[in-house]
Formats: sequence, C-alpha cells, structure tokens
Amino acid sequence: MAKVLVIADIKQGVLKGSTLELLSKARAMGAETAVVAIGNNISSLAADLAKAGSDTQYIADDAGLDLFSAGPYASCVVDAAKQSNADMIWFGFSEGGKAVAPRVAAQLGAACATEITDVTLTGGQIEIVRPAIANKVMQRVKVNTKQLVAVVRAGAFQATEGNTGKENVVKLAIPAADLKAVIKEIVSDATGEIDLADADIVVSVGRGAKDQAGVNLVKELANDLKAGFGSSRAMVDGGFMAHNKQVGQTGKIVAPTLYMAMGISGAIQHLAGMNGSKVILAVNKDPEAPIFNVADYGIVGDLFEVVPILREELKKIRK
Ligand SMILES: Cc1cc2nc3c(=O)[nH]c(=O)nc-3n(C[C@H](O)[C@H](O)[C@H](O)COP(=O)(O)OP(=O)(O)OC[C@H]3O[C@@H](n4cnc5c(N)ncnc54)[C@H](O)[C@@H]3O)c2cc1C
Repeated sequence: MAKVLVIADIKQGVLKGSTLELLSKARAMGAETAVVAIGNNISSLAADLAKAGSDTQYIADDAGLDLFSAGPYASCVVDAAKQSNADMIWFGFSEGGKAVAPRVAAQLGAACATEITDVTLTGGQIEIVRPAIANKVMQRVKVNTKQLVAVVRAGAFQATEGNTGKENVVKLAIPAADLKAVIKEIVSDATGEIDLADADIVVSVGRGAKDQAGVNLVKELANDLKAGFGSSRAMVDGGFMAHNKQVGQTGKIVAPTLYMAMGISGAIQHLAGMNGSKVILAVNKDPEAPIFNVADYGIVGDLFEVVPILREELKKIRK
C-alpha cells in the first residue's frame, strides 16, 4: 500500500484547507496517510489532523519553531518521512512549501516536483502531471526514484468529507536552529484583507478599470462578497495595486470556487494564475477578449455599468 506523508499547512495556529485537500486525495488513492505538523503550541491540532484524514500525526512542537525557518522545518519533515517510510511527501502550495520541498528531496535523494496537479502510484511507479511552458501544456512525468517530494498546486485536489483517520501522535525530536539563516521576524500584510490564497471567491481588477476610482469600484464588489481582491499585472505596473495582489505567472496562483475577472483581457500569463478556478466569471466590453475562452459566465459590457448592477442584485439576494 502506498504511504503518503502530508505536510500540515498551519498559519498562526490555524490549520489551512490545503491539508484536508491533500489528505483527501491520499485516502482516495487508498494510501496509508500520515501528517507532519511543525510549529509552536500546535500539539492541540492532533485531533483535527486525525479528523482531516491522517492515521499518524508527527508533531514537532517547540518555541524555537514559532517562526518559519526552512532548514529546521526540512529536518522535521525528513525525520517524519524516514519514520513513516513514506513513498510520497506532499506539500500544499505555499512559499514555505516551495522553500522546504527541495531541501527535503535533496536529503532523501528523492525526486522533487512543484505545482503538480495529479499523481498516481501503480506498482511502485510514480507518475505526476504538472503544467509547463506557462500553462500552455500539461506534462505527464514518470518519476525514476522510489520517493517523490511534491508541492501540489492550489486547488488541484478536492477536499472530501468523511475521511476521518485515527489519532496516533508521534513526537519528533526538535532540530537545532539554523545558524546559516536566522529569521528574526515575519511581517505580514497588516491591512487585514482576505489572503488571496485562502479566499473562496476572488475578484480581480484589470486595466479596464482605468484608474484608482475604477479600482475602488471593483473593490466594493469584492468587499460585498467578502472576496479576496486581486489584480492583473497591468494594474500593478500602473501603481494602482500592490504586487502581492498580482495573479498570474509572476504573481500568485489561485484556485477559488469563484474567480471574477473585471476588465482583464485574459493574457496567457494571467490565465496561468487563475485558470484552475472552479467557476470563472468575466466582465469585458470586448466580446473577442481571450478571457471569454476560459470563462464559464461572460458579461460583455462596461464594468462601470455592470459592477453597480451586480452590487445591487447582490443586495436584493441578501435581503
Ligand atoms: C514574463 C511576463 C510575465 C507576466 N506575468 C503576469 C502575471 O503574473 N499576471 C498578469 O496579469 N499579467 C502578467 N503579464 C502581463 C500580461 O501579458 C498582460 O499584459 C496583462 O495580464 C494585461 O493586463 P490586463 O488584462 O489588465 O490589461 P489589458 O490586456 O490592457 O486588458 C484590459 C481589458 O479590459 C477591457 N476593458 C477596457 N475597458 C473596459 C471597461 N470599461 N469595462 C470592461 N472591460 C474593459 C479591454 O477590452 C481589455 O480586454 C506578464 C507578462 C510577461 C511578459
């Protein structure tokens, strides 16, 4: 039976949805599931991790692991991978995951793949699917090592209910601090806005919004929907939106339940960041805009007219 070790995605003591998605996939593959949780004051998450579908919880809980640090985090994952004898070690899509995965792979002598969208293990042969050439093609890759370390693309695997595992906690030895790189402080976005990576709905604004007044108009819609507020690169380059809001090849990759593209043409580099969204709604005044090729719902119209109508309709529905 395949053995999968999932790295729990924990932010400020809260378990993120990607952990459930990865464990659901592992269980759907019929694999034995284990999870590794690293941080400070996180032991209480063991029950939640079992509920999310893991049968063993490797826990490294120490004040020294409060701040993310790639070296010690990688040591914990390697320890858990060796103890669990995992065939596959999966990270959810995060900056931390991308930093730790190659370190783990190097220490285990395993293959490392980022942004995978699917994986199979048949008779000891691992195969993965991942995008290439800015999402223009999907490549199927045979893995020539016994073990695979992978970072899974946001939204690639579906969370399913009813996968409860069992609580079996194994405490990991706490690794020495990394003396090569010492993280002093992590400064997070203090605006309190919804993180794009966690948002169930993302509303993004493009050059069609023209200026700050247009951006503000679209942002009102995002606020109404309690959605993450994203941007095309054009609006970042124009100085209207912060870079951490950019969706796309050189920005964030999102896969929300609903992605609303407001005045965005649909350049391939933008699509690379959002075409995994479950439902895409586009508003564009050009019926030939390429965004309509990926949109499930399209409104051909001026966003300055359409956004107020959408807001009004939302208000009616809420009433
Ligand atoms: C190496 C590289 C990396 C890149 N990475 C990214 C990336 O990560 N993310 C990204 O987004 N881009 C990226 N780009 C840029 C990308 O190629 C496009 O230039 C960019 O996405 C265009 O942004 P836009 O759709 O907002 O603007 P435009 O392409 O100018 O489109 C604006 C759209 O708004 C419509 N419109 C105009 N007025 C209205 C109105 N009143 N109402 C409704 N619709 C209206 C127009 O019909 C048009 O379709 C990258 C480019 C390169 C070369």
